[in-house]
Formats: sequence, structure tokens, C-alpha cells
Amino acid sequence: MEINNRQLIYINMLHYPVQVLGIGSRIGIWFQGCSIGCKGCMAQHTWQVHEKYGTDIGSVMREILRYMGSKPDGITISGGEPFDQPDALFELLMGIKNAGLRDVMLYSGYQFDALKSRYQYIVDLIDVLIDGRYMQGIETDYVWKGSANQNANIITQDAMLRIRYDSYLKRRPEKRKLQIVEAPNGVYMVGIPRQGDAEAMQVVQC
Ligand code: SF4
Repeated sequence: MEINNRQLIYINMLHYPVQVLGIGSRIGIWFQGCSIGCKGCMAQHTWQVHEKYGTDIGSVMREILRYMGSKPDGITISGGEPFDQPDALFELLMGIKNAGLRDVMLYSGYQFDALKSRYQYIVDLIDVLIDGRYMQGIETDYVWKGSANQNANIITQDAMLRIRYDSYLKRRPEKRKLQIVEAPNGVYMVGIPRQGDAEAMQVVQC
């Protein structure tokens, strides 16, 4: 299916390789704009939509295709809240599918059931969806989750991918891996720290 390359999308950052959010070395895309506003969110710099973050799907896809030669293991989409831009998210996911990139992992602060009832056509394009708000005070030691209320939903129809994620998602690492990345607009920490660690880092920033 042809995608609408002129579709407006607000993104905060696109980076490769991301090695701490999903299996292997991945392309990471962070949407800009989140209307949920979880207390204690570590990505508050992604809440506000501003025209300086606006681009089009064609430009984002060109950047993704630039990394395809490095054979990324997958793509992780976070934010911000990707489902606050449903049209852009749909076009992006279709572009990713057309490019032949498999293993799409996505973070959303909305509940899986709510997303399925409203955006089933988008959910169908995702392999693994981590859903639910970040809830301060509800710690988890499972990999890739920020709080224990969040669920890792393996949606993929790819049997091999399902088996791989099924085993990865049972991991409870003693230490979380984090990654520092340099982007045009600053230096960012990528990954999901334990809640206590996240609070300590916020104190350091003050
Ligand atoms: S949904 Fe994600 S980006 Fe939005 S406030 Fe919650 S943790 Fe932060």
C-alpha cells in the first residue's frame, strides 16, 4: 500500500543503534507530544507539541532507509505518546512494513483494550506493545517496563518473534542497561531505569 509521504508528524528524536529497548540493535523513534501526563514521567521534554518538531513521513522514512543497510534487528517507537498522532503513526508503520523491517515494539500510555477498540488497524501493524501509564511508586523488575501495572503484549503473527519475546519478557535483570545518545538537540539517556534510579537522576539534574 502506498503511504502518504506528506503526512505531518511530530518527532523528538530518531536514533540508531538503540540497544536497550527491545531485542538487538534497533532504530528508535520518539514521538513529540503527550496528553497523558503521568506523574514522575522521565520524558517530560516530549510533552509539548511545537512546530519545530514537525516533519513529514517522507523525511522520516528516508532516515529509516538510511539505516536499513546496517540491518537493524527492529524498531522501537516511544515518546511522547505515539497514539496521540494516529494518522502519522499509521503512515509510519505502513512505511516501516513496506521497507521490510520486522519487529516493531511500541510504548503507549493508553490501555491495550482501549487501543484495540479504537485503532485495531494500527495495532495490527505492531509486534509488541508495552501499554499503560507510568505509575510512580509501583516498581517492577521486569525488563523494558517502567512500572508494574504496564503489560507487554506480544501481538505478532511471526511465530519465531513470539518465541523470542516470550523468553526475553520473562527476564528480571539485576541491573538495567541504559544508553547515552547524542542527538542534534542534546544528549539523552535511553532505556528504562528502575524507579529509584530514575528519581536519583532527577535529583542530580536539579
Ligand atoms: S505516556 Fe509516556 S510520555 Fe506520556 S506522560 Fe506517561 S510516561 Fe510520559
